[in-house]
Parts: sequence; structure tokens; C-alpha cells
Amino acid sequence: MTRNNNISISPLFGVLVVLLIIISVACSNSLRRVQARYLTDIEMGVLPTSFESGTSDIRTDVKGPCYQNESYEVDTNRLVDYPMRYVRINIHWMNSEDSLQSIPEAEARAYTLRLVDAMNYALRNNKKMFLPPRNTTPVHPTNFRYVLTGRPDDPEDDGIYYHYDDSLYYYVHYRKKDSNLYDRGAIEKYGVQLDTVLNLFMMPHQPDSVASPTYSAGRVGVALRNALKVAAKWKQDFEKDPKKCHWRYRGVINHEVGHIMGLSHAWGRSDGCDDTPVHPNRCWSKNSRPGCDTMASNNVMDYTSVQLAWTPCQISRVQRSLSDPRRRQRKFLEPRWCVRNPELDLLIEDEVVWNCMHDLHGNLTIAPGARLTIKCRTSVPQDGTITIQAGGELIIDGGALHQDCGGTWEGVVVEKVGELEGKLTMINSGRILDVLPDEGL
Ligand SMILES: [Zn+2]
Repeated sequence: MTRNNNISISPLFGVLVVLLIIISVACSNSLRRVQARYLTDIEMGVLPTSFESGTSDIRTDVKGPCYQNESYEVDTNRLVDYPMRYVRINIHWMNSEDSLQSIPEAEARAYTLRLVDAMNYALRNNKKMFLPPRNTTPVHPTNFRYVLTGRPDDPEDDGIYYHYDDSLYYYVHYRKKDSNLYDRGAIEKYGVQLDTVLNLFMMPHQPDSVASPTYSAGRVGVALRNALKVAAKWKQDFEKDPKKCHWRYRGVINHEVGHIMGLSHAWGRSDGCDDTPVHPNRCWSKNSRPGCDTMASNNVMDYTSVQLAWTPCQISRVQRSLSDPRRRQRKFLEPRWCVRNPELDLLIEDEVVWNCMHDLHGNLTIAPGARLTIKCRTSVPQDGTITIQAGGELIIDGGALHQDCGGTWEGVVVEKVGELEGKLTMINSGRILDVLPDEGL
């Protein structure tokens, strides 16, 4: 005999139960019904759409937080507020006309992809600082990556170029008679999309210089405003270890990019960062000589064998450069914030203050009981919306909501439940721009 635990219910009783559930759900929905409406232009004080990205219309108080590096320190409790930024780069391989001075052209593409992977790996795996000893400096995400970028009108262009040029292929480091590191000849002749893509020139050291016993042909580079040059024994290293030698260069290239982003050398006093200690910068590695075990640095902006650590202050300076439309560095970014990415829609669920410029990549929703204060320029994606749910509040405190890519966005939706409505507060000359006009809403 088996036990039967099923309870039998008469069909009529079952129907009654279902009806009761439907009625009770309907009643609770009518009590909690959410009404939503777009705020009118007048309610938002919308200004005409008549500015170009980067003009002074979206500038806020230059002495305020939007222009201070500290404001760009990543809030590690709210990483979702800081979408990854992608710096467009291209890579030029320079070689002599007899093709003997650099990696072979046939290997250049595969090698470049490995090299960029290594550079991004270092950005993705930021390291704890060696200095000062026993420091408690936190490790923040760098929050930017490189993306190889060709000309948009040429599907064959992968952002990797190879040039044979006997007069321009080589690099001679400073303090030498024929020093040419500041020479922009190769950049002017071969640069591609110099305004919007960071051009990286990989150059061999000049053979005559390398032959000199006083010339150091190590990994070096120079940042030249909108391009950089990196010199190394590319060919020799490649022949020794073709599959792994790309790892050797991630530090020096990221160091030069650091200069492009506005960072100074970290060992001195003038880099503006308290978390990069002053030190003699005489230890290439921990094993260089006695004392180096506690004196060697691993900061990306020091001269060291492991340029892998970016401090919170250094990252904040980079992020500020990438956020400010008036800065040259921002033009290198792939503008992924122009069109809404639904995967990056953002929900604010508590009390949040944005003291720095933001580029929303998706729609923004402020939940019941939450409050977001925007103090700086904040871009909304084209056709994007901001929704303030009942009991939520958005405060534009001296900041500006706008569309950074020359388009328009849909505006602010407030939701209402019973008497409780989402609230928009504008103070200290806060502004809303580039909203689609009221008509049709
Ligand atoms: Zn440097």
C-alpha cells in the first residue's frame, strides 16, 4: 500500500480561489497604480538646443568640484556609475628600407594584437604600490582600455600600419648628438586621424647609436602631445622570444600614455599626487643593488622594470582629462555614450552625489526614496530618458544635463503613486539642455 498525500479539491472551490486571487491583485494594483508623465520644458527650464559639445554653455564653476582632480577618484562602492572608457589607438611599425631593423611586416598584425592585449592586461590588473613600504594605498580600477581603430571609411583599415623609411624610421635618445626623440617628422608624414586617435610609433634605435658603448638601447619613449614614440630592440627581442616578448613593453607604453593623459613622473614632488611618494628613482628593480628591496618602485610613472601600479590620484587625473570636453585627451575616446546601451541603464537606489562630469551610457532611474545630486556636466544618450520614481528626487545643483553628441534626449519622466510624485529640483543655476521639444509628448 502507498500513501497518497495529494489533497483533492473540488473543481468549484478551485475556481473560487482563482477568482479571489484575481480580484485581490486587481485591487492592490488600483491602489498602487503608477502614473508617469514627462515634465514640460517649462518645468525643466529647458534651454534651447544651440550649443556644440565642448563649448562654454556646459561649463560650471571652474573653482567648483567639476574641475578638481580629487572629484574624479573612483567611488569603489559605486563602480557602476563609471562606465569603462575606450581610448582609440593605432600602431605604426617603422622599419629601414632594407627591412632589417624591426619585426617582419608579415608578423606585425599578430604581434600588434598581442601587444595591445598586454597593454590592456596591465590596465585591467592594476597593482598595489610598492612604495612607501607598508603603504595602505588602495588599488582602484584604471577604468580605461585601448581599442585599435582604423579609418571609419575603410573596412580594410585595422589601425595597424607598417612603413619603410630610411630617414624617419629610427629613434635616438636624448643627450646624444643626433638625438631626434622630439622630432615629429614620422608623425607628420605617417600619422592617421591624429585628432581622434592616439598614434603610437614603434621605432628601432638607430643602428649607429646602438653600436656606441655609451648608448643605452633599452625600452624608452616620448609623449608628443597627440602621439607617442617608443623605441626598443624590437627585432632582437622578437627573434629571441617571438611569442612572449610583447609582455616586455606594456609598462613603457602605458607610461607614455600616462604622459599623454597629463601625468608627470611620480618620483618627484611636482606630480600633484600625495600617494606617489618622493624617492631617488635609482632602483630599476628590487634586486638592482643593496637597499633596493625596499626602495624600488612599481609605479607606472617611475623608471622601473615593472611600471604597473596606478595610484587613485593618478587614475583620477586621467579620468578628469577624459571627462572634460575642453581637453584634447577626451577626443581620443570612442564615444560609446552617444547611443543608449540598455545593458548600462543605471538605477540609483540611495543617496548619491556626482561631483564630477559623467557620461550616461543608458537610461537613468531614481528609485523611490533615493536622491541623486548632479553638480557637473552629465550627458544623456540620444533619445534617452531620466525617470524619477515616486518618492525619488533628482537635484541639478549647478550641473547641466545635456546630450554630448549633438543630438537630443527625451527628457525627465516623473512617476506618481497616490499623492507621492518624483521630484526634480534645480538649484545654483542647474540647467537642462538638448531635450526634444514638448510637441507630441
Ligand atoms: Zn616619462
